[in-house]
Amino acid sequence: MAFVNEHYLKLSAGYLFPEIARRVNAFIAECPQFAGEIIRCGIGDVTEPLPLAAVEAMKSATDELAHRASFKGYGPGTGYDDVRHTIAEGDFRSRGIDVADDEIFLSDGSKGDCSSIMELFSHSNRIAITDPVYPAYVDGNVMFGNTGAPLEGGGYEGLVYLPCTAANGFIAEIPSTPVDIVYLCSPSNPTGAVMPRAQLEAWVAYARKHHAIIFYDAAYEAYIQDPTLPRSIFEIEGARDCAVEFRSFSKSGGFTGVRCGYTVLPKSLCASTAGGAQIPLHPLWTRRWNTRSNGVSYAVQRGAQALYSTEGKRQVAELVAHYLGNAKLLREGCTQRGLTAWGGTNAPYVWVRVPAPFDSWGYFEHILREARVVVTPGAGFGRCGEGFIRISAFNSRANVEEVVRRLACIN
Ligand code: PLP
Repeated sequence: MAFVNEHYLKLSAGYLFPEIARRVNAFIAECPQFAGEIIRCGIGDVTEPLPLAAVEAMKSATDELAHRASFKGYGPGTGYDDVRHTIAEGDFRSRGIDVADDEIFLSDGSKGDCSSIMELFSHSNRIAITDPVYPAYVDGNVMFGNTGAPLEGGGYEGLVYLPCTAANGFIAEIPSTPVDIVYLCSPSNPTGAVMPRAQLEAWVAYARKHHAIIFYDAAYEAYIQDPTLPRSIFEIEGARDCAVEFRSFSKSGGFTGVRCGYTVLPKSLCASTAGGAQIPLHPLWTRRWNTRSNGVSYAVQRGAQALYSTEGKRQVAELVAHYLGNAKLLREGCTQRGLTAWGGTNAPYVWVRVPAPFDSWGYFEHILREARVVVTPGAGFGRCGEGFIRISAFNSRANVEEVVRRLACIN
C-alpha cells in the first residue's frame, strides 16, 4: 500500500488566488455584461513585454543550440559559471558587497527556492514568519511537515507569527520567544513595506546571537529607489554568517513566464547538528541542486545574463519605473478618495485600509461589483491582513488610470 504525505491534507482548502478566481467567475456568471470590463490588479503578475536585451539573447542562445559546433546539452545544476559571475558582479560586488560567483545558485524562480531550502533543515526548528506573509513560505513548510494542524481563524500550530501592523510600520519586530529560522521579505509582498537598515541590522544581530538563520526574500529589490534602504541583506555586516537571500528576475526583468531566479548562500553559513557540530550549508545546497536538478535552460540563463548588459540594465530600469509610476497613481488615487494607503513607493504593491463597515473580502466584493476591479483581500495573507486590501501595480498605464477613475466613483 502506498501512503500519502498527510501534511498536504493540512493545507487550507481555498488557496487565495483560486478563491479570488472563483469569486470573479461567480460575478461574471451573474453579470456577464461586465465580463469585458474587469481589470485585474489582484495577482502580482507582470503585464509588459520582456526587455529586448533578454529577448535577443534568448533568440541567439536558441540559434546556438541549432548548430552542432555550439550545441549545449546538460549544463551545471547550479548555473553556468559565467552567468553566476555576471550576477555576483552585477548585483553584489559592483555595489561593494562580498558575494562569490559560486555562492549564486540559479533556479527557475524563487517561489520554489523559498520552500525547497527547508530540505537542508531538520523538523525541530522554530520557524517565524511575518503576518501578513507571502503564502508560499507557509504552505511549503506545511508540506514538509514543519507545522502542526491548521488553527481556527487561520495559520498553523507550531509557526511563530510576527505581526506586521500599521503600529510597527508593517516591519517585523524581533520576537520575544527565540526562533531558529525567520522569513523576512523586503520590499514586502503584500504590504509594500521596506526594511530600514537599522532594523535589518537588529535582525542580523539577533540571528547571530541566537545562531538563527534569516531567509531574506528580496524578490522586489529592484523597486527600491531610496538609496538609504538596503537592497540586500548582505549589505549588513555579519549577514554572511546568518542569512540566505532569494532573488528573482520575475519582477525586475518581467520573467514570470520565462522563469529564472537565484539564491545566494554564503560559504560561511552553518547550521548545527543535534550534537552541536557546525555544518556548512553551501556544500549541502550544491549537492541538493546537483541531485535534484539539471539546472535552468541555457537560453533562459542567457536571457537573465543579458539583463546586466548596459542595454539590459536600462530596459530593466524602464520597466521598474513603469510599474512604480503605476504604484504612485494607485496610492494617490486611494488617498484622494480618503483611504489610508501604504507601500507603492519602493514597492509595486499598495496596501490599503478597508473603510468601515467592510472586512477585506467584503471590500474585495464591493470593488469587484461596483468598479469591476479585482484586488487581493489582505485576509488571504494572514490574520493581520484582515482589514486591508492589496492593489498590484503590475498593469498597463491605461488600465491603472482607469482603475483610479473607477475607484473615485464608488462609495
Ligand atoms: N517571493 C515573493 C515575495 C513573491 O511575491 C514572489 C512572486 O510573486 C516570489 C517570491 C516568486 O517569484 P518567482 O516568480 O521567482 O518564483
